[in-house]
Amino acid sequence: MDSERIFLDHVAQTTPYPLKVEVARAEGTSIFDTAGKEYLDFVSGIAVSNIGHRHPHVVKAIKDQLDQYMHVMAYGEFIQSPQNRLAEKLASLLPEQLSTSYFVNSGAEANEGALKLAKRVTGRTQIISCKKSYHGGTHGALSVSGNEMKKYAFRPLLPDVYFIEFNNIDDLAQITEATACVIIEPIQGDAGVRIPSKAYLKALRERCTETGALLIFDEIQTGYGRTGSLFAFQQFDVVPDILTIAKAMGGGMPMGAFISSKSHMEQLTFNPVLGHITTFGGHPVNCAAAVANLEVIENENLIEGVEKKGQLIESLIGHPDIIEIRRIGLMFAVEFKSAERVARIVNQCLEDGLITFWFLSCPESFRLAPPLTISEADIKRGCAIIKNAIEVTMEL
Ligand code: PLP
Repeated sequence: MDSERIFLDHVAQTTPYPLKVEVARAEGTSIFDTAGKEYLDFVSGIAVSNIGHRHPHVVKAIKDQLDQYMHVMAYGEFIQSPQNRLAEKLASLLPEQLSTSYFVNSGAEANEGALKLAKRVTGRTQIISCKKSYHGGTHGALSVSGNEMKKYAFRPLLPDVYFIEFNNIDDLAQITEATACVIIEPIQGDAGVRIPSKAYLKALRERCTETGALLIFDEIQTGYGRTGSLFAFQQFDVVPDILTIAKAMGGGMPMGAFISSKSHMEQLTFNPVLGHITTFGGHPVNCAAAVANLEVIENENLIEGVEKKGQLIESLIGHPDIIEIRRIGLMFAVEFKSAERVARIVNQCLEDGLITFWFLSCPESFRLAPPLTISEADIKRGCAIIKNAIEVTMEL
């Protein structure tokens, strides 16, 4: 097939075995291929399409903004109303100390900015992260990611980075007065949905405050209602010094941000001036989409339904072969005995018209993260496909 050859030869590949669904269109919870086959999307393009694909309110906001202006100037110079509206809205939804957003284009970029900000604010260089964490593919974000398999080919990476065990209170002693920041996913995503204790995140907050290290919460995967609250940290009564967000932020458009206090953010304006810069960060069309995205989440009360939908899915896919289901809200890892079984289930689901996916650092589990807008009927349809895939791969 010509399109497949072009894809394989001219679109740079990331694995030897891409899924190769040829997309014609997407709507709500469904993606349709060029042959007319429907796929139920149970991963939301990896935690992006939380309000479903092409939500009409977001599409309208994009079209309206297109009629006004697109890119006009590099980030930070001109007053652009989509940026203003988004920054004001985020500030109204977040605790007081998270008042100021720096808009970027992706999750990795948000983390890069956050790490630089922490170094600049503290004047320290040491960064502490967690084993099995994932923070992105750029050099800095990769440096603080825990999966050695993804890193060895690209060394040397950032120096002065140390890894502690996630959810281990004893390890917090490694955070000292030399530490610029601790970067952590409040729920580890690509490690296979690892949920820490409330006591751990509270102790982490206390240790950071004690030592003057800044606490960065990477909510790039957990944000925007995925876990049952707008951001996961809101369920743990712990507020970070810097919050990083992306993925679902743009309602399907590429957006990211690192968010902190105004006084911290000001440090990026001197010594050196332009301490962090981006050409496209805060693109007006993407910001307009991101505002509309938040309006949809609010107006449709999407977060309210998350836990109930999560419980329904959990009850419908139950099977004796499942070793464990780790879930918070609509973020799932479903664990089996072997990575081979997981790969067969994921492939069988795809064949039967349902998109699931694996994790970077947890091959014995597959992920589920459907749009928060998913209907009960689609939940039942999707779970029947998963259940069947578990059954037909049973001989392994
Ligand atoms: N941080 C977390 C927790 C993520 O899950 C991801 C992506 O999966 C990233 C950072 C990187 O985001 P991006 O792919 O937009 O650079």
